[in-house]
Amino acid sequence: MSQELFTGESFFRPESCREAAHAGWLSRLAKRDARAGQYAALGNIRRTRADYIHAMTVARVNTKGARRWQAGHPWIYRTDVTERPMMDAGAVLVHDNRGMPLGWALWSPLSEISLRLLDGNPDAIIDQAWWDERIASSIARRVPLEDHTNALRLVHGEADGCPSLICDRYDQWLVVQFMSAGLERFREEILTSLRSLVEPAGILARNDVSLRAKEGLPRETTILYGDVPREIEVHEYGVKFLAAPWTGQKTGAFLDQRENRHFVGTVARGRALDCFSYHGSFALHLAKKATHVTALDASGPALMRAAENAARNSLTNISFVEANAFDYLREKEREGITFDTIVLDPPAFAKTRNALSGAMRGYKDINLRAIRLLAPGGLLYTASCSFHLTKSLFLEMLQSAASDSGRRVAIRAFAGQPLDHPEVLTIPETGYIKGALLEVMD
Ligand code: SAH
Repeated sequence: MSQELFTGESFFRPESCREAAHAGWLSRLAKRDARAGQYAALGNIRRTRADYIHAMTVARVNTKGARRWQAGHPWIYRTDVTERPMMDAGAVLVHDNRGMPLGWALWSPLSEISLRLLDGNPDAIIDQAWWDERIASSIARRVPLEDHTNALRLVHGEADGCPSLICDRYDQWLVVQFMSAGLERFREEILTSLRSLVEPAGILARNDVSLRAKEGLPRETTILYGDVPREIEVHEYGVKFLAAPWTGQKTGAFLDQRENRHFVGTVARGRALDCFSYHGSFALHLAKKATHVTALDASGPALMRAAENAARNSLTNISFVEANAFDYLREKEREGITFDTIVLDPPAFAKTRNALSGAMRGYKDINLRAIRLLAPGGLLYTASCSFHLTKSLFLEMLQSAASDSGRRVAIRAFAGQPLDHPEVLTIPETGYIKGALLEVMD
């Protein structure tokens, strides 16, 4: 399921390259510190170990909670915290039920997810230097991507050891999301790290996600540093597009399918259809090889940006259709129209576990209709970003659609998440995208 399947050798940079990049970032930090003289001069208070021990508050967890960390998952739920720290959100030292220290965690007093592992070393000090190091190493992992894009995720939360923190870069601007009360306590340190490491022109907080309500945090979109434009032109694999950091979906664009878009663009041909197109993301790549592309979405404003994006890339073979994809696919089947390439990248149909069976029907419906619409030898790239729809359920759904279609359908490739959205095997919540390239053989 590795993204590397699709991305060519640039993703197989030697380890030494990553280390060199990491060293580069750290030397940049050292220069910053030298410039500033002391952290204190920058307004950051470097605490002594004694201060820390004095201020330290401890959470005690049961065996089940401790086992989650041992198994590589950073979350400990409220029900497994046997002694709650007597403090507001922040960093706490976690002990097991015998009083053995297990490490440091972000503490969220109101959340069901009470503790998020920061550092398995009980002697760690969660200060400016700690965040500098953690964020620098996350950014250093992304260096190979910089050859292909200037819109990428710099920090993917738990997967990068920075629980509940998202940071996406759009050219010279950053969009961040602080998704837990514990993390909010380190807002200043995190902003200082990002400003030093990336030197952005502005940082926007897209803290409008519903998850924050569960943490007792306000939902807001607000500037944290400098200024951030309403629209930013970025590029991926030679395609330019406008991201909308203030109002767009997620932090302004769907960066998580970048390599899949590029990959599908290399195999596309003939008459192509991009359902759920948003601002034309797949369509722009398809248009490079296909003779004609129909970009379809239910959102008029998204399609207006799609048209602008097509013009930006001097692509004249894309037409835009505002419609419900379910209806459109049905209608084209009735009309007897066929396509050579179809992309289905719908929104998450299963937002909760309870919605799963309805979602399975929805996914099967669009996939069955798309398979029926393909000319012999036609290609379907199909994806799901529902966390609750597992890889095996996704495959089961595709098998069922293929079986009902009565056609012979081959799997040409599986797809997952890119380098900058790492899916950590022991943290299932870090992974949500499943994709497959299917070929209708007859
Ligand atoms: N493929 C895009 C992301 C798509 S997000 C990319 O790679 O960037 C999902 C899109 O589906 C949104 O733009 C939303 O407006 C659209 N959408 C949701 N329900 C729809 C429906 N029933 N028919 C058509 N589009 C729909």
